Amino acid sequence: MSAGATHDFCVVGGGIVGLATAMQLLQRHRGASLVLLEKEPALATHQTGHNSGVIHSGIYYAPGSLKADLCKRGERATKEFCTEHGIPFVACGKTLVATSPLELERMAALAERAVQNGIDVEHLDAAELRRREPHIAGLGALFVPATAIVDYRQVCAAMARVIQSLGGEIVLGARVSAIEETEAHVTIRADARTVRAARLVACAGLQSDRVARLAGLPVTHQIVPFRGEYYRLPSEKNGIIRSLIYPIPDPDLPFLGIHLTRMIDGGVTVGPNAVLGFAREGYRKLSVDVRDVAQYLFFPGLWKVLARYRKSVRAELAGSLFKSAYLKECRKYCPSLESSDLLPYAAGIRAQAVTRDGTLVHDFLFLESPRTLHVCNAPSPAATSAIPIGEMIAGRAAGAPLDG
Ligand SMILES: Cc1cc2nc3c(=O)[nH]c(=O)nc-3n(C[C@H](O)[C@H](O)[C@H](O)COP(=O)(O)OP(=O)(O)OC[C@H]3O[C@@H](n4cnc5c(N)ncnc54)[C@H](O)[C@@H]3O)c2cc1C
Repeated sequence: MSAGATHDFCVVGGGIVGLATAMQLLQRHRGASLVLLEKEPALATHQTGHNSGVIHSGIYYAPGSLKADLCKRGERATKEFCTEHGIPFVACGKTLVATSPLELERMAALAERAVQNGIDVEHLDAAELRRREPHIAGLGALFVPATAIVDYRQVCAAMARVIQSLGGEIVLGARVSAIEETEAHVTIRADARTVRAARLVACAGLQSDRVARLAGLPVTHQIVPFRGEYYRLPSEKNGIIRSLIYPIPDPDLPFLGIHLTRMIDGGVTVGPNAVLGFAREGYRKLSVDVRDVAQYLFFPGLWKVLARYRKSVRAELAGSLFKSAYLKECRKYCPSLESSDLLPYAAGIRAQAVTRDGTLVHDFLFLESPRTLHVCNAPSPAATSAIPIGEMIAGRAAGAPLDG
């Protein structure tokens, strides 16, 4: 530990990326002292606790890319972690359904990508799709057996237990409000608490740009909140699908499209869409945070994104405002759904890093100083990939010597 420091490591953020990183730091540096600071009264309160609960296979990502590699390794590591810690998961598989000739073409490209990524897929024709999923209609489908479902809050609770068993401390209700770095250590203020650590790793999700600014780093991008709105089906329709049902994604769009997802509690959710949010951490439809909105309205990158994706922005907004538009999307592959089947369900909010030139960042974005490492974008599916992401960050964070 450096002179005057109270801890070897301070990790900011009790989402799955912060927890996986803290766990890996302690596993690499047995006996090191580590404190994890989370501003909320519970772990996994934001993105990690408001997602679809899918352990993805990595089929979508460019072969050889870091994202593809992390997702594939993450899928295996998450299942192993769940088995080791008695956390239920169900490998129900994912069916990607093509509903038009164009989607059949895109599906063929996706199948090719799966082969290059070393992911097993089965090709289903329309009749086989109907036999396996009697409520789903399409011209053909790809079935990915490796895809599974889990409750990521339970995964986080188990990670927290591992951290504590390795001597790490987790402090809830500790909002980091000041970070000061000297040659000797980093001083972090979180409410009444002051931590002096040899190294700081910040995994602050929706607040990651602000936390990096607290440390005085040059932040040129901005986190823009994209709401992912869900519905759930009435419980008598829980048996409507056997696997997870996904549309074939449009390669020009950044999100996966509305899907039917079996949840680990037996329910089925429909969603998410992706609409601009009016609050980074406000989950109700009418939640507005004036500071959040003002900040992105004055950010040129946002306007460029809205202009670039205007067609899909309009379609997503229509789906958000009108249930009928949302339902139309789901009926493309599940024609029996009725408006009365779409019951309210909590939304999630995605931390989307956007650069000043209007690029949506889909890769990792780190900002660093000699003693701090800020994860400013951990691209989805970061819940699936969290364990190898944690390994990667822990390796990077400990790259410089801990002493002096
Ligand atoms: C709608 C939706 C669906 C998704 N579905 C999936 C899926 O099915 N599978 C999958 O693999 N991925 C999915 N993802 C992506 C995945 O959930 C996220 O990539 C992942 O949870 C990110 O984790 P995180 O730890 O980086 O962020 P978060 O979970 O947001 O954690 C960041 C933490 O930092 C804390 N924090 C922030 N500022 C401070 C501060 N100043 N002081 C102290 N603490 C602070 C926050 O309170 C928060 O707890 C989905 C995301 C969304 C939004």
